[in-house]
Amino acid sequence: MYNTKAYSAASATSPLTSDTIARRDPTEHDVQIEILFCGICHSDVHSVRNEWSGFMPSVYPIVPGHEIVGRVTKVGSAVTKYKPGDLAGVGCMVDSDRTCPNCQAGLEQFCPNMTLTYNFPDKHLGGVTYGGYSDSIVVEERFVLRVPENLDLAGVAPLLCAGITTYSPLRHWGVTEGKKVGVVGLGGLGHMGVKFAHALGAHVVVFTTSPDKKEDALRLGADEVVVSRNTDEMQKHAGSFDFILDTVSAKHDINAYIDLLRLDGNITLVGAPEKPLDVAAFSLIMARRSLSGSSIGGIPETQEMLDFCGKHNITADVEVIPIQQVNEAYERLLKSDVKYRFCIDMASLKSA
Ligand code: NAP
Ligand code: ZN
Repeated sequence: MYNTKAYSAASATSPLTSDTIARRDPTEHDVQIEILFCGICHSDVHSVRNEWSGFMPSVYPIVPGHEIVGRVTKVGSAVTKYKPGDLAGVGCMVDSDRTCPNCQAGLEQFCPNMTLTYNFPDKHLGGVTYGGYSDSIVVEERFVLRVPENLDLAGVAPLLCAGITTYSPLRHWGVTEGKKVGVVGLGGLGHMGVKFAHALGAHVVVFTTSPDKKEDALRLGADEVVVSRNTDEMQKHAGSFDFILDTVSAKHDINAYIDLLRLDGNITLVGAPEKPLDVAAFSLIMARRSLSGSSIGGIPETQEMLDFCGKHNITADVEVIPIQQVNEAYERLLKSDVKYRFCIDMASLKSA
């Protein structure tokens, strides 16, 4: 065991502050990584504030962070894919049982024995896992991702959650050239959804509550932008979408979007609001529409997404901050005021 610096919250109402946590020494299959950048996901805010208490109660102190990019510092004797000095990424998961049908299909995110990167029982040290708002992390090789060398590292970190969470459902629902695709909410996930849907050749429409994001949405790859509070603008798109990706982090009227789907169209929720959404049965029934959800993505697909980003030069648009500004960043996230992902430069933790 060794100690490493981190930022943690002591309770659902406490700010994040400087702390020291223990990590395990790398075992034979482990990779030890010095963390260079860690993105701030809205899930970090939900978790720190215990907003998902019914589903996933938070354990304190909590060290969030699951958009991790860094350099390998040490590897165990059985590790074959990484060596010290390599770039490496870690996303939302650090373990699973590897034997269940979902793991065997490369869908570790649906493994009943999956371990999340933070706030999940830690099989090695007891207590719970600690995330990426820290100097260093130790992760089994299978859950470490190769990072393309040609991309800006601060912009790569958010790919490990915001990237895969949007890439996976777009691929699953067959988004290609000629499809009309909506992205609801232009935050961390939403802006990656726009970039991927555009790169896959779709006609992309962004739905936003923030009129001042219009120009950015077009720059990011949208073909059209709709201010969702304007019902006339919404109505113009009724019954026309093949697929809509809903990334909204708070309770909202999902029926307004279901009505925009064409026959057999699908809307997928990746946003995970604290409170349940109301669904009008008739909105689904009348055009055989479907509503589904999607959770991050498996390890093979996460690697595929990173390689796709390397090939197409795709990264997140980031506001890089020192860790000392993390509490302020959370407040701004709650006001939909981020362009379009906060990313912590972990070098700042050395002076914390
Ligand atoms: P974010 O950066 O805060 O973006 C959310 C966006 O939703 C905001 O920028 C805003 O966009 C819109 N929005 C916020 N409040 C709204 C409201 N009351 N009504 C309508 N629109 C609203 O958050 P994020 O990091 O992208 O995460 C989004 C959600 O996905 C969170 O709930 C997060 O926990 C969840 N998530 C799920 C997965 C998964 O595997 N399924 C993975 C990661 C995150 P506009 O300003 O454009 O309206
Ligand atoms: Zn996330």
